[in-house]
Amino acid sequence: TTLISKLKETIINVPDFPIEGIQFKDITPIFLNPKLYEEVIEDLANFSRGKVDAVVGIESRGYLFGIGIAIALDVPFILIRKKGKLPPPFVSEKYDLEYGTSEIEMREGQIKPGQKILIHDDLLATGGTTEAASRLVEKQGAIVSQFSFLIGLKDLEGQKKLEQFGAEIYEVLQ
Ligand code: 5GP
Repeated sequence: TTLISKLKETIINVPDFPIEGIQFKDITPIFLNPKLYEEVIEDLANFSRGKVDAVVGIESRGYLFGIGIAIALDVPFILIRKKGKLPPPFVSEKYDLEYGTSEIEMREGQIKPGQKILIHDDLLATGGTTEAASRLVEKQGAIVSQFSFLIGLKDLEGQKKLEQFGAEIYEVLQ
């Protein structure tokens, strides 16, 4: 069986969570199966091997695979956190949500100017979070070279929103 079919059997679709009309993808069963986790990391690492200087992971599910990718590639892993979790000094970026605004932060100096960056998250929906992460990376003089996601939701406009950064995009599963 292929990695994609194994993932489709493993990821649980939960209707109407966290609100009505949303179909939530529960990825937690992947972590019950270390061999499957390893396969996912290998697939994601193959996309980025030799192409990036560091991996940026978005809180919190972006850490689950982001760390694994960074270790497989032997490059630094940098966390993006939601506002208020990191001690100073940090850099931050505001972005719009469906209702209201939000803010993400990264420790200052962990990204070096000129570095080629992979931004990773578990799931691409509207792309709002990843877009803000990209601005935060570019603001520090680094280059957004690649995006990767475990899951891309095809019907949403995420991919389109990320085109402005001119980076490669990879989704293990759509
Ligand atoms: P976006 O900013 O692209 O609209 O939303 C993506 C973010 O929301 C990601 O950080 C992702 O973890 C989270 N997210 C949204 N919907 C789901 C879902 O159905 N399953 C999971 N695992 N995460 C989701």
